[in-house]
Amino acid sequence: MPSKISAVQLSPFSRQYNASSIFAHIFHRGPVTQREISKTAGLSFATVTSVVSPLEKLGIIQRSTASSTNTGRPAGLYKCNPTYRHVLGIEARKDELFFILSDLQGHVLSQNSISYDKKIGKEGFLNLLLRETKDKIARVGAKENKLLGIGIGVAGLVNPANGSVAMLSHLSNWGSIPLREIMEEKFKLKVSVHNLAAAAALGESWYGLGRDKANFLFLSVTDGVGGGIFINDQLYTGTSGTAGEFGHISVDDHGPVCTCGNVGCLETFTSVPAIVQSARKSVSDGVSSAIKEIVGGDLDKITFSTLVEAAKREDKLAYKLFTDVGRYLGEGIVSLVNLLNPEMIVIGGDLAQAGSLILDPVNDVLKRQALEVPRKSVEIVFSGLGDSASALGSVVPLIEEFITLPLLE
Ligand SMILES: [Zn+2]
Repeated sequence: MPSKISAVQLSPFSRQYNASSIFAHIFHRGPVTQREISKTAGLSFATVTSVVSPLEKLGIIQRSTASSTNTGRPAGLYKCNPTYRHVLGIEARKDELFFILSDLQGHVLSQNSISYDKKIGKEGFLNLLLRETKDKIARVGAKENKLLGIGIGVAGLVNPANGSVAMLSHLSNWGSIPLREIMEEKFKLKVSVHNLAAAAALGESWYGLGRDKANFLFLSVTDGVGGGIFINDQLYTGTSGTAGEFGHISVDDHGPVCTCGNVGCLETFTSVPAIVQSARKSVSDGVSSAIKEIVGGDLDKITFSTLVEAAKREDKLAYKLFTDVGRYLGEGIVSLVNLLNPEMIVIGGDLAQAGSLILDPVNDVLKRQALEVPRKSVEIVFSGLGDSASALGSVVPLIEEFITLPLLE
């Protein structure tokens, strides 16, 4: 990599500060001209030019080929050089490890996954994670310092402050594991560990619909129900790092027992396995439905996609299932809207496939039960990031830190 470049006049501290601020500006808003940076960052034009030039020489930023003028005349537009560094994002899902290699701006360069059996156990899981990570690092050529670090999103309780994992949802007898420490020691790289849903929320805040939102919530509904809370542009993690466990909001005192020990948690009604199980029970109890026809009578073959397909065929049972789920979800969302007054709630995970089937009942409940002022200022939308949201988001803290590092001497 090129060495750092000395520059002029300003004190080293001011210069570092300005360089970080200007780079952050270019990173988030590029392509931009130096004049625009000067105006919006509140720095003199001379200060901007004194930093932009060495940043360009280092290769951290580059001139954009896009034109900033109506005449098409090329004006000095700068943007982040996305390939200056790469990042490795990992999602530890309940039955597979999913890897992506991305550049600094979230463009996925390669991705692959390896499945594992639930009976793998703690040691087996860790061995697999370390072995596969080593293999991915070898492929990107870590010797050139190209890799900025590793982000991991895991399905379980995580303390992002120290990267320890107190529980993995799918592995029993996990205990508490200092996952970040283990990975950093092994690979001599920066490692960031988050809960899967919190990682997806980070992905949403940088690469998705939450990009320009200072206060928004991300709600992930797949095997479990979780999410992330963004307040003033920051992920709120709470005292022990577990904030965002929306799935354990109680919505029915007489509801089913939840994995957390409580009864009637939101997750017991709205997680994908709960919805599928409910469909199976209804069909098995003799409710007439296209669902049975779609799976050829084999109820074990019912998946979430089956229910979406049935709803598209205007199947009454599928409609009822989604309406019920939307209502329960709406009950939980009412509490969130009243408590936090967010600008946006992004729903991600498998449930996003259901679209308006869920959204209409959610909005009905909101209209009836939420306070008027916060209700009118919130927008409920579905994530467009798909499968890679958590893997992409898990590396965000590493990129955030990189942007604020001293870039110039
Ligand atoms: Zn619960």
